[in-house]
Amino acid sequence: MKNVLIIGAGGVGNVVVRKCAQVPEVFSRITLASRREEKCRAIAADIDYPVDTAQVDADIVPEVVDLLRERKPDLLINVALPYQDLSLMEACLEAGVDYLDTANYEPPETAKFEYKWQWAYQDRFREAGLMALLGSGFDPGVTNVFTAWMAKHELDEIHELDIIDANAGDHGKAFATNFNPEINIREVTARGRYWEEGQWKETDPLAVHRSFDFPDGIGPKEIYLMYHEELESLVKHFPSIRRARFWMTFSKSYLNHLEVLQDVGMTRIDPVMHEGKEIIPLQFLKSVLPDPASLGPSTKGKTCIGCVAKGLKDGKEKTVYVYNICHHEQCYREVKAQAVSYTTGVPAMIGGKLMLNGKWRGDGVFNMEQFDPDPFMDALNEHGLPWNVTSW
Ligand code: NDP
Repeated sequence: MKNVLIIGAGGVGNVVVRKCAQVPEVFSRITLASRREEKCRAIAADIDYPVDTAQVDADIVPEVVDLLRERKPDLLINVALPYQDLSLMEACLEAGVDYLDTANYEPPETAKFEYKWQWAYQDRFREAGLMALLGSGFDPGVTNVFTAWMAKHELDEIHELDIIDANAGDHGKAFATNFNPEINIREVTARGRYWEEGQWKETDPLAVHRSFDFPDGIGPKEIYLMYHEELESLVKHFPSIRRARFWMTFSKSYLNHLEVLQDVGMTRIDPVMHEGKEIIPLQFLKSVLPDPASLGPSTKGKTCIGCVAKGLKDGKEKTVYVYNICHHEQCYREVKAQAVSYTTGVPAMIGGKLMLNGKWRGDGVFNMEQFDPDPFMDALNEHGLPWNVTSW
């Protein structure tokens, strides 16, 4: 019987709370805290399970420490923004609480994400006898677990890894992002980056693309090479990988709007003066774009996220593809969220469940692929994200 504190009441937070409430034998007490408590209260009021709420500014370490000391959780699940990762890790160390997140730290002033800031906490978590699980969403998260599962069961050595993420759904808007618009646009407009023969290679943003034929009736779609954080931990933990790339689909409408917004300066993250006040154009843009949490009722179609790994099995070349198909409308019926929030929130709950029931334990800071993938893969089937595997 464990007590969990979830911080962040956005699209993903809503799913994490609802999925934790479906597993009361593990998450017997749930608190949802966020910058605006009214968002937490609105979610809690719509769930048929007791959920406590609180107001907290996750950037202010002492405020979080006070909340942790008052509510005494066994685990903090961070589904606020990547900017809050370090302050929440600091607060967990001070209050003696385990930590889990779904996205790696990004400094607000540079659109850059790397594990180095969070891996630097390794000794402090280990010495404190605490555990931090990094990136327990879908990508990163399930994609790391899929890779570990292929390395355990399907291949003796992985040589090439392609992580391929398709949102084949439609929200009916001309332009909207399916998770936090500021974080999404920073990620998509960054330079592409992939691993090849022991070094990182860079491309212009979205400059490399090709067609991929998706399963389950989705068919061929254009996929674009981007940098994604799980590449960094996967090439570290699976040194046999010679090439690792991450690909994502975008609609023509999304790319056209993004190009115009970039051209006119609306995606800038440096401050500009507006009527005597400093504003950050991308933050202003976020406030006029649809809130991803509001896209649930209108989004139709599927997502398909998976990993294609090529390598050797018993001395012969083999390619394995593991993927999940998720239906936007089914997700909405279950948890009032579209599939992108769902595919992130469910693995966050599963990571928390495995930490709290002792199946994934350790002192220090961990990426997902460092643990036995089998209990996580079983839990995906059990909790709404069944996976498929094919090989040739
Ligand atoms: P949202 O913007 O919808 O939600 C973020 C929530 O955090 C909001 O409720 C926001 O409050 C709250 N918040 C922001 N800053 C603070 C703060 N300083 N103190 C307290 N609360 C704060 O984002 P999403 O739900 O779409 O995404 C949540 C996280 O999930 C992000 O880190 C994102 O990168 C990650 N993600 C990971 C994926 C994966 O597969 N690994 C995929 C998609 C997302 P307010 O409502 O007041 O703004």
